[in-house]
Amino acid sequence: MINRIELPKEVIIASHNPGKVKEINILLNDIGIKAFPISLFSDIEPIENGSSFSENALIKARNARQLSNKTSLADDSGLCVDALDGAPGIYSARWAGAEKDFDLAMSLIEEKLQGIDNKKACFICALAIVNEKNEEYVFEGKINGALTFPKKGKRGFGYDPIFIPENHTITFGEMAPNKKDLISHRGVAFKKLKESIIVN
Ligand code: IMP
Repeated sequence: MINRIELPKEVIIASHNPGKVKEINILLNDIGIKAFPISLFSDIEPIENGSSFSENALIKARNARQLSNKTSLADDSGLCVDALDGAPGIYSARWAGAEKDFDLAMSLIEEKLQGIDNKKACFICALAIVNEKNEEYVFEGKINGALTFPKKGKRGFGYDPIFIPENHTITFGEMAPNKKDLISHRGVAFKKLKESIIVN
């Protein structure tokens, strides 16, 4: 029999991004886990100097575990654009600058893709858990799609208004949150997580 990972009913989310914390709470709701933001304990954000989504997710989860003393979960995710060699990738948040201006980040991508037909892109999500025994687990999810300009839709967050998932005709910014959760990179990673845990 597969050994399942035990998770408590309350976990800490290693994110200061309200959009992400909200999405993660919805994704955990059906298994009875409530997620609290790390900002309840500290505003100190670790330096994300990993070279992959998984490494950065682990850095954030370890930091939150240390600050809160509780089981912590971190999501590191981003948009990877084919014609930009996978950029912004792990730098997706940083392309929006200190002001977290995603209109600016989306315009930057549009500018760099001027005259390029290949608009293929994907979102990737790595979910890391560090539990109270300091055991570490990572789950990954990915969704392929294509970019569209100008941006469409006011739902979601970040780059959602320019991303049309494969086999769909509307952007994540136009999609109902529960529809996005069913197919998104984060949704896929959470599905893997849910299949691997028991809640105590
Ligand atoms: P992180 O908080 O360092 O993981 O930053 C990831 C960044 O990637 C976010 O701030 C968003 O800009 C972008 N991103 C990740 N997931 C999504 C998504 O589901 N929709 C839109 N943008 C996303």
